[in-house]
Parts: sequence; structure tokens; C-alpha cells
Amino acid sequence: MTAEQLLAAPATVLPALRGAVTGLPSYVPGRRSAGADIAALASNESHYEPLPAAITAVAEAAGKMNRYPDMAAVELRERIARHLGVTPNEVAVGPGSVGVLQQIITGLCDAGDEVIFAWRSFEAYPILVELAGARPVRIPLDHLEGHDLSAMAAAVTERTKVILLCTPNNPTGVPISHDRIEAFLRAVRSDILVVIDEAYVEYAEAGSGPDSLALYRQYPNVCILRTFSKAYGLAGLRVGYALAAPAIAEGLRRTALPFAVSALAQKAAVASLDAGEEMAERVAAVKQERVRIAAELEAQGWKLQPSQGNFLWIRADEVLLATLVEAFNVAGIMVRAYQGDGVRITVADPTSNDRVLRLLEAHAA
Ligand SMILES: *Cc1c(COP(=O)(O)O)cnc(C)c1O
Repeated sequence: MTAEQLLAAPATVLPALRGAVTGLPSYVPGRRSAGADIAALASNESHYEPLPAAITAVAEAAGKMNRYPDMAAVELRERIARHLGVTPNEVAVGPGSVGVLQQIITGLCDAGDEVIFAWRSFEAYPILVELAGARPVRIPLDHLEGHDLSAMAAAVTERTKVILLCTPNNPTGVPISHDRIEAFLRAVRSDILVVIDEAYVEYAEAGSGPDSLALYRQYPNVCILRTFSKAYGLAGLRVGYALAAPAIAEGLRRTALPFAVSALAQKAAVASLDAGEEMAERVAAVKQERVRIAAELEAQGWKLQPSQGNFLWIRADEVLLATLVEAFNVAGIMVRAYQGDGVRITVADPTSNDRVLRLLEAHAA
């Protein structure tokens, strides 16, 4: 052995992350919505503060943070069950509906199992699937920015365990009709869990999307996913839920991280459901704004698919997208850009929406 070899540092091998983890995209923090002049329209949050009753409930619960929350979330599950006309056995809660979705995927998928979803859709889908060691199967949206359910049905294999349907779809805002989902459910095997992600259901016009509860009652392999993060304005508190057949809901509760839903979140969610009418008034105002700005954008020359969420979707090629991203940046308006696809803009208060309209006017076709 030469002196040189003796002096060389021994090779250090660091503990290895799983391949599924190294393949995941890094989280890129967005610009913080500091300054009063920044419009935060990138995350589909409610621009309203939480409902007053929710703030009161959190303040009251804050004094008991030395205690663990109710792990079974009994009161909240009972309140959700009453809200939906089901039993608490059919309800599982989690830290946001993303948390519940992770429980669904880890609860149902072994390594190599397949999860089918539309693309583009919610960005958390491929991440949760890959993290579980399962295989994401992305089915391109149709030419109207909606789910291509025939292609999704055709993609089913014997490894398919879960299918995710997002209605209205994030980021395009396009809903899936009741009849189309029902035909789909008739076509897919009953041992595949069909998750209907309704994060924006409160913003949808009645009848535009499915009567998911009716589908759930008819097809026990349906699971409905809902959240308090959007219309209820509790994005920062992390609470969402699934409605599923009792045996599945029980499994989801078992896969949950213990105590993941804080007492503050549980209390705030109950209080928010109790204040449902106030929530509905706020949602009505956002829907009115959605109609107003969609009409103005159309008048400016933009061609948009009607959105049933609290956001608008502008499909854009690379050149247009780069132009828009730059313009929004300069204007201090935070929006969500999707490389190669387009830009999603949250509908908020009239002042912010007007800023968006003024900006887009300058770039209309
Ligand atoms: C925002 C969103 C959710 C909800 O996420 P939370 O974890 O409940 O905050 C779920 N699904 C879709 C499609 C969403 O856009």
C-alpha cells in the first residue's frame, strides 16, 4: 500500500434514503405573503378569517394544550356523521384531507400496487402514492380539462387498489357529473376503492358534480374525502375527513398517526359545522366573484372552462406561462404556476380579484 493510499480518507457511506424518497420533488417554499400589498392567491385558501365560533373554540381549547387530544375524535366524528346523515363508524378524520388520503393509500396499497388518478390534478396524489411504494398511474385530462373516465377505467389492472377522482378538479375547476361517475362505478371492480375528493364541494353549483352521498350508499367501495381547509377557512389547523364503509373507515383510523388531529382542530371543526350558514354566506360571495371575473376574462378574450372551485384555471403554453409568472410576480400577486400546463388563481376578495383582472387584461389574446 502506498503512502498516498494510507492517507486517503476512508469512504463514508451515509445512511440511504429509500429510492421512493430520493425520487420525490423537494418542497420549494413559496414567497411568504408578508406585506399588505401581496395578494395570496396561490393556495386556494379562504381569504376570510376563520368563522368567529371557530376562533372562540380554539381560544377555549388552547388552555388545555398540556393534554393529548381525543385520539378517537369522538365528538367531531359524531358531528360530521350528523352533518352527513351517516354513523360515526363510517367517519375517519386526519390532519387535513391530505393526511386522511395518506391513511387511505398506506392502508390499502402494498409495494407495487397501482393508484390511478387524472393528471393534471392535485399535486399531493403522486407524492403520497410514491411514498407508500405504490405506483402512480396518471391519466391525462380530456380536451375540456376534465377527467377522462373511460381511459381511467381502461387503465385498471389486477394491481389497481385505489382510484382518485377529484371533483371539482384541482387545478382546472372542472367537475365530474353524477351520471359519469355512476357509469364508472358500474364498470370498475368493487374491490377497488374509488375516492371522490371533494375538497371544493361547497363552492360547486348544485348538480354540477355528483351526489356523492347517494353514490356512497349505492356503492360501498366509494370513499368521500372532505376538508375544513377550504370553504371553512381552517387550512392552518389541519383537519379533514373520509366517509367510507365501516370496515374501511376503521382501517383508516388504525393507520392514522396517533393524536394527529389536535384538540384545537377538533373543536374548531365542530364549531365550524355548527356555523354552516355563515360559511355558506361567505361561499356565496366567492361564487359571485367567480362568476364576475370569469365573465370579465371572457370579455377580455380568455377562453376558460367554467370552474366550480374557488379558483380559475388558465391553460398556458411555456411562453405565455413565463410571461404571466413574471407579470404576477412583479404585481405582487402570488398564484400557482404549473410548468407546461398553466396557472391557477384563487378567487378571493373583490380588490384582489380586480388586480388579477387588470393584470390579465394586458395579456389577453
Ligand atoms: C386543498 C386540497 C385538499 C385539502 O388539503 P388539506 O390537507 O385538507 O388541507 C385535498 N384535495 C384537494 C384536491 C385539494 O385541492
